[in-house]
Amino acid sequence: MIKHLLKQPTQSGLEEIEHVKFLIISRIAYFALAVHALLIPAFAHIGANTLAIVNVLSVFAWGGGIFLINQGLTSLALRVFCLEVLIHAVVVCATLGLSAGFQFYLWTISCILMIDYQLPLKRAAIYSFLMIITFALLYVFFAEVTYTFSYPELIPHINVINIIIAGLPMVYGIGLIREITISQRIELTEMASRDPLTKLYNRRFAKKLILAAHKKNIENADNLSLVMADIDHFKNINDSYGHDKGDTILLNISAAIRAFLTENDIAVRWGGEEFLLLLGHTNQQQAFAKVEALRQQIAAIEPHQDFPELTVTMSFGLIEWQPLASLECMLQQADAALYKSKHSGRNKTTIATGQSSVFNNIDAVS
Ligand code: GH3
Ligand code: MG
Ligand code: MG
Repeated sequence: MIKHLLKQPTQSGLEEIEHVKFLIISRIAYFALAVHALLIPAFAHIGANTLAIVNVLSVFAWGGGIFLINQGLTSLALRVFCLEVLIHAVVVCATLGLSAGFQFYLWTISCILMIDYQLPLKRAAIYSFLMIITFALLYVFFAEVTYTFSYPELIPHINVINIIIAGLPMVYGIGLIREITISQRIELTEMASRDPLTKLYNRRFAKKLILAAHKKNIENADNLSLVMADIDHFKNINDSYGHDKGDTILLNISAAIRAFLTENDIAVRWGGEEFLLLLGHTNQQQAFAKVEALRQQIAAIEPHQDFPELTVTMSFGLIEWQPLASLECMLQQADAALYKSKHSGRNKTTIATGQSSVFNNIDAVS
């Protein structure tokens, strides 16, 4: 149920969980309101008039709680429900004895108090512990109370039903904590792995991915190419158009890079206006053709709506990863190729020299 309800794509992990909590608590509240209302005639019927009157008050408490939920005061509503359950459990156990199992709801609220994040941990723990103490005290004070009303044969069944209903929210509570832990971990990993502006992988995180991709490629005897890319004259663009416009250009270029990638590729914001691309299943010639297409595509985009006259270009340096070479060595060579593109006029793609390739001497292509 939790998994199904969690499918809210526009929400972040924690918001999703709060939304689910809200849905489940309001459903439980309506259910509890109905049960308490039905119990009023039932208690009156068996002659437990005090309990019938307490149940009228309980209906008001659950109704008030539902009102609070609808006002967005879920946490306050939870506390009202907990207080109601506490008082009700004590009164019912004092009247009917413990054989009907109403005391088990104290365990339920003890768990629910712990997942009310608006309560500070220490206070939640104290309240929670008090519920368990109350549970124990019920056995001290009311162990001798026996059921003296009508239908005593139903009591074992009511006991079973109460145990099941009391147990379900505990399972839900633990499920919720599990979801929160997993979704927070995913969110934190995502935040730690991405550059906040472009949302491409950041350098620190990407190194792990790149090394893993390289290892896999060696195992599969596949090709892998590394591309260093750098925006041309970006400092001038910033100086002329401002840093904010520079950021928009970075975003547009990142979007073009992302759109160009296949599922085998990895794009990294390597530095300020420098990107590293890892192209899977791609040899040197294929990488050259792909990067050339990207270069032309970037040169053709209108990088900023306010400045249609502005063209932004990028220079590239690439190398096919030699299986036994280190990442550092490959990066140095890709960087050297990029440097060559820069020094031969920019807006170019250069294949690193030192590689056996027919492209070595026709590396600078604009
Ligand atoms: P070249 O063609 O040789 O690469 O020249 P360049 O001006 O692009 O290179 P340089 O290294 O001199 O300048 C890079 C500029 O990139 C300087 C820096 O202010 C800018 N930059 C780096 N990160 C960001 C960013 O996040 N946003 C913006 N707007 N500018 C950035
Ligand atoms: Mg640059
Ligand atoms: Mg640079």
